[in-house]
Amino acid sequence: MSPISTVSDTLRVINPATEEVAAELTIDGADECAAAVDRATEAQRVWAAMAGEQRSELLWRWAQLVEDDCAELGRLDTEDTGKVLSDARAQARRGARHARYWAGKADKLVGQQFGDVPGQFSYTRLEALGTYVVVLPWNAPAHSFMARACPPLACGNSVIVKPSELSPRSAIRLAELAVQAGIPTGVLQVVVGGGATGGALCSHPDVAGISFTGSVPTGQHIARAAADTFKKLTLEMGGKSPIIVFDDADLDSAARATVLGILNNAGQVCAAGSRLLVHASIAKDFVAEVAARMSKVRVGDPLDPQTQVGPVVSSGQHEKILGFLDTARSEGARIVLGGGRVTTQQRGFYIAPTLIDQVDPAMTVASEEIFGPVLSVLTFETEAQALELANATEFGLSSYVWTRDLGRMIRMSEGIEAGVVHGNSNLMLDSGLPFGGFKQSGLGGAYGDDAVSGCTRTKRVTLRIANTPLPGPWPGI
Ligand code: NAD
Repeated sequence: MSPISTVSDTLRVINPATEEVAAELTIDGADECAAAVDRATEAQRVWAAMAGEQRSELLWRWAQLVEDDCAELGRLDTEDTGKVLSDARAQARRGARHARYWAGKADKLVGQQFGDVPGQFSYTRLEALGTYVVVLPWNAPAHSFMARACPPLACGNSVIVKPSELSPRSAIRLAELAVQAGIPTGVLQVVVGGGATGGALCSHPDVAGISFTGSVPTGQHIARAAADTFKKLTLEMGGKSPIIVFDDADLDSAARATVLGILNNAGQVCAAGSRLLVHASIAKDFVAEVAARMSKVRVGDPLDPQTQVGPVVSSGQHEKILGFLDTARSEGARIVLGGGRVTTQQRGFYIAPTLIDQVDPAMTVASEEIFGPVLSVLTFETEAQALELANATEFGLSSYVWTRDLGRMIRMSEGIEAGVVHGNSNLMLDSGLPFGGFKQSGLGGAYGDDAVSGCTRTKRVTLRIANTPLPGPWPGI
């Protein structure tokens, strides 16, 4: 069954665990997008004119409603994406944390003051851009919504969110909760649809900024569309993040982090550690340990509390991952675990946790983002080789280095071409921690201070305060 089918203007959301229709929604076309932009432009004036403290209070109220509703938000995300229910609920709860963090910032967004030029006083103001568009993928719907929508709202923008066509329902609910919290109508809106809907929004001349999270080709497309009116862009795209394990590492923790890093959300995480680079001297035992742990992970119905890994999001994603596995076989890869569908499941888009050993750097699975529960293993002998392998990809999102040698950890962190380096740790995210990609993985960042830069513009004001005639050339003029 198709992951999403559009019948005239109807969007069918398919539950990937059951392959049944979870919901039917009306698609917003170019006219609805233009109307949403008009409403947003109008509402933004009111929103930006409010005191920061008032915006803060409303965001705080919204956070509470989101937290109170996380069971329902989680259910919607599980039905739409196959994400395990406990994870989906926890992610919605973390969404509330984003709203609280940005509520705390809303009344503290200040510019700089420059007083060092005699007779002059200059300062900068941080101003909202205006109408801001957020285009989202499907892998963490409620969490990504809150992480990307809260910063521009706190900074005084109105926001239009275009969730993925595969997972639109938690977005609609989050926007309803915002209205319940008292955020003025039009300040936060959701439009429903696929690429055409996203395209209509991203090319609208009255949209001043865009935060896009998704694949590289779509990011490139949006960047081109945005160029016509020079919209401010934050782009967060894919990854092929390395987990680099040296022979002196805490191997028990490294093995656990490796399994969590590739199987969490069935590997559908932009920062998933999808390439295990392991020192040759420990490779055989370490890979055997990782394979043993991966084989114990419980794959199944995402609503079952015992389940640790659910299906992948859609039949399209399922077919894409199976295609990568076929390519791996045809290129001579050694699949030591998994390698295909989960045969015990009658229905649903399940992929077995898969480990591919002795991967050659030239193989497709060494460099392309699979976005599924598939781990590729490569080995190295020296630190220089580890770095070379780590950087041998067009992506540069996250990285994970495991060693007890502090000097080596710092040398690796300096050499790795990625926006985030985790030392002896799995993925850590928080509202205030920068998170953005290098190379094809992105531009700017949606967290912390980067997020503020992405959705504001800086205005300099210079005042001549000297009580003397205006100096300068052309006397007598
Ligand atoms: P996608 O690029 O197919 O779609 C992303 C969004 O863009 C969807 O809402 C889609 O409808 C919309 N879209 C498609 N064409 C468009 C167009 N022409 N104009 C405007 N919008 C358009 O990506 P996906 O399959 O939903 O998500 C998976 C990708 O997202 C992976 O590559 C993953 O690594 C990446 N991702 C990155 C991050 C990050 O923080 N860097 C986080 C999550 C996911």
